[in-house]
Amino acid sequence: MSSRHLSSVLKAPLLRAHSQLPSKGLMGLAGMLAIMLALIFLPRPEIFTSVDSYLVPHSLLEIGSVLVALMAAASIFQGHRSTLPTSFMVMGCAFVLSAFCDLVHIFSYAGMPNFISDASVQKAIHFWLAGRTAFVFALLAPCIITSRPVTRRYLPLALLATFIVGLLISWAGLYHLEYLPATFVAGSGLSDWKIGYEWALALTALAAAALLLGANSLPEGTNAGWLAAAAMATGLSELCFTLYASAYDVFNLLGHLYKMAAYAMIYHAIYSSRMTYPYQQLKEMSTALSEAEQRWQFALEGSGAGVWDWKQDSDHVFYSTQWKATLGFKEDEIGSSFDEWKSRIHPDDMPRTLDDLKQHFAGHSAEYRNEHRMLTRSGEWKWILDQGRVVERTEDGRPLRMIGTHSDIDWIKEQQQRLITSRARLRSIYHSAPIGIIVADCNGIIADANSAMHNMLGKDGTELFQQSLWGLFSLEEVSRMKRAWGQLQREGGSFQDEYHMQVERGHMFWAEVTLTPLEGEDRTLVLINNIEDRRRAIELLEENATLYQEVFSTGNAIKLLIDPELAEIIDANPVAAEFYGYSIGEMCGMPLSRINVLASQAISKRIRAVVNRTDNHFEASHQLANGELRDVEIFTGPVDLNGRTLLFSIVHDITDRKRAQRDLQTANLKLSRLSESRNQIHHLAECLLTCSQLDDIITQLNVRLPSLFAGSEGSVTLSVPDDAYQTMHINWGTPPTEACLVSHSLSVGDTEAGKFTLQIPIDAESQERLRPLAEDVCHLIMLALADLQLKQGLSHEARKDTLTRLYNRRYLDEVLPQKLAEASIGNPLSLVVLDLDHFKQVNDTYGHEMGDQVLTRLATLIRESLRSSDEACRYGGEEFVILIPGASAAVSRARVEAILAAFGEEVFESETQPPLTGLGFSAGVANAPHDSQTTDTLFKMADKALYQAKRAGRKRVICYSSLPPSQDSLASADS
Ligand code: GH3
Ligand code: MG
Ligand code: MG
Repeated sequence: MSSRHLSSVLKAPLLRAHSQLPSKGLMGLAGMLAIMLALIFLPRPEIFTSVDSYLVPHSLLEIGSVLVALMAAASIFQGHRSTLPTSFMVMGCAFVLSAFCDLVHIFSYAGMPNFISDASVQKAIHFWLAGRTAFVFALLAPCIITSRPVTRRYLPLALLATFIVGLLISWAGLYHLEYLPATFVAGSGLSDWKIGYEWALALTALAAAALLLGANSLPEGTNAGWLAAAAMATGLSELCFTLYASAYDVFNLLGHLYKMAAYAMIYHAIYSSRMTYPYQQLKEMSTALSEAEQRWQFALEGSGAGVWDWKQDSDHVFYSTQWKATLGFKEDEIGSSFDEWKSRIHPDDMPRTLDDLKQHFAGHSAEYRNEHRMLTRSGEWKWILDQGRVVERTEDGRPLRMIGTHSDIDWIKEQQQRLITSRARLRSIYHSAPIGIIVADCNGIIADANSAMHNMLGKDGTELFQQSLWGLFSLEEVSRMKRAWGQLQREGGSFQDEYHMQVERGHMFWAEVTLTPLEGEDRTLVLINNIEDRRRAIELLEENATLYQEVFSTGNAIKLLIDPELAEIIDANPVAAEFYGYSIGEMCGMPLSRINVLASQAISKRIRAVVNRTDNHFEASHQLANGELRDVEIFTGPVDLNGRTLLFSIVHDITDRKRAQRDLQTANLKLSRLSESRNQIHHLAECLLTCSQLDDIITQLNVRLPSLFAGSEGSVTLSVPDDAYQTMHINWGTPPTEACLVSHSLSVGDTEAGKFTLQIPIDAESQERLRPLAEDVCHLIMLALADLQLKQGLSHEARKDTLTRLYNRRYLDEVLPQKLAEASIGNPLSLVVLDLDHFKQVNDTYGHEMGDQVLTRLATLIRESLRSSDEACRYGGEEFVILIPGASAAVSRARVEAILAAFGEEVFESETQPPLTGLGFSAGVANAPHDSQTTDTLFKMADKALYQAKRAGRKRVICYSSLPPSQDSLASADS
């Protein structure tokens, strides 16, 4: 469906007329005609014998038609528009009038109870004809009355008018039938007038049918075909009423039935159609809408973009398959909440993205557009171009719906980045190039010039911008330059020549100018190389031989005259003789290879270059008479002397410069190695100092030392301070061919903790770098070991009771489950809970300090009685717990009783009171696995036994297993 079609579906004011009789209607009409003809020609059956028996069916049929007429009228008057076609308003009123007349007709029927005036055939026919007239008029109305819209406000007025007409008809029918022509004469039946009127109605109805079929526009939802069928059925019904002889004979019944059939068709044409019409319209609209939606989605996704559609009221976002695929997800792997998008945005891009969205919501931008990174399924970031627009807002401007696209622009971003990098590279080459570079347009206006160019001309940063290129050349050169420029612009290619350029007014220098048009641009690249020095030297050399001679022997530069064919020194100036350490006489005739360390072939090659004027500047290494090597820079050029071509060389000693350069490089290298080692050391320190176990330290050293001491072989041996058997080794590298051994012992405090050895290559650089590094690493290892010891000491301290130096409750909580797990029938574990008797009194009478002394003393007694596998702790206050593995309850009890006896004999002296003696404690013993094997229950059992010992008079030790069974409620809890 095209969008034009869609809008026509949405806007159609009147409906296309169905201008054909429906096939079902046609068949029905044919059947009705056939029955009618059959009844005309065959003997008429007598269905009702009297008018009384006909009254009820008649009334029901009429009530049916009254209802249908009212429903049709109601459906016409109903509607969502404020207006309705005039023809339709008239049609509806006519249906109401027909219903009104039919209703009165029912009560006027002969045999019905009297209503206002006597019921009679004449009266019933009057209302009948009035009803039929109204009905036929209703069918005609859409064809003969204008369909111009009339406002619904006139509807009450129209209904009032209808009602008044109804009242007038009723007034005539009820009171003044004599004014009207007779329709029924008792004894002779229907009058001619009545039959004629029925014929007229029948023909009008058929005419209405024809007009309806020809009509080209009817109000919304109206089915013209069925309306025409109803008109025809009405025609047939009216014909039946021209044929009946009594008010209850078969044609009267048939007339009513056909009338009913006509009403059924009216029902279908108006009421039913108008009821279903909105739904049909809705269905067409939604199909059109979904097709349109599919099309735009298809069109957008065709371009590779994903689509999203966000309904803000319900926080529902539709993400297209392509949208999900861009991020590597399958259709069902992404839900439809706003969060699915938001949670995948790169945190750095989030504020900018949300801000753009907000700006668009607030109406500050016509379109939302943002580039951001999103997390893909594989965990990588991808650049996405997100664009959208709010397509629906509430009346107060709040966005309701937003649609947009989502495109992968990762590759564009990559290209951009590459472009930026290569541009930056180009830019840096451009600015750091040692020659002047200018970019000028076709008219020679300077668009850009690099720093070297500005320096060459003694100008500031951007002074050359928009200046004319010609202004840089001397007046005599401008026309030559312009000619070359013009030719280049016309013919392309590239061009090079030497020009006289001017720095400031009057100050000139020679430059080698190269012009190259830039491809694809209307600009030319101008490369300018200052050749002033070169020119001057050559000019000088070429001036004349006498001058050379003068030049040769004066000044403080080293100068040599060379025979290019023999590669021999012909002459040397005094400065040269002094430099090389030979006399001038020794130097004359000396082969060049005596001073130049290059192979003779290479020397010949250089000489050729000078003779051919392709090169005049070299660097070399020259050997002095004393064997020392010096770095030199040589400027040389051919000169004609007495008809011979000789080479004139000026030599500069650049040894110091070269050495400085080399030293700088070496220092740089050292510095970078040093900083690398520092970084590694720093990192190693960070890692080592976070280790909480020796194992961790070993692992870190294993990982880091090989790379830190790359190129050397080494080992570290570490022993656990309190466990001489546990010694660990770390080894790395292969031994260097020539090495020097470095060895350090590692100690923590006074204890020897291990050893560090390293085989360092013998070269100075390695020695200089690795020795201090080794020392640093040793310090670091010792520091880490000390730190570890401190940490372990602290954690040990945390498990000790400060007063008694026994373990505390925390330690017991750690060790008990472990000991319990080891307990078995053959290796039982006794848990003893011990509580001082009347200790409060001790405190109250002798003071808290004495109390502390008592506690400490008891702790010492307990400690002294412990075997190595036993554990004792101060559980809290004046309570102690002892774990005795490998002992039955009875054995344990005996051992605790021994402590009790020793404790009872203790005497504590006091300065103010008589000595404190006869102290005691009560204790309970529970045994695992005999009593229980779970911590809690075992504890409770020992506690219970302790409680029993207190109750039984204190100063005693009781085993849980010896408690009377009636008190045992814990054993079962355990099982
Ligand atoms: P019972 O025989 O029933 O165990 O009586 P009791 O007085 O020993 O028991 P109670 O629980 O009434 O009193 C325990 C006392 O132990 C109270 C408290 O002041 C004292 N106490 C707890 N910890 C310490 C401590 O570290 N030092 C001192 N001096 N007294 C302590
Ligand atoms: Mg207590
Ligand atoms: Mg106590």
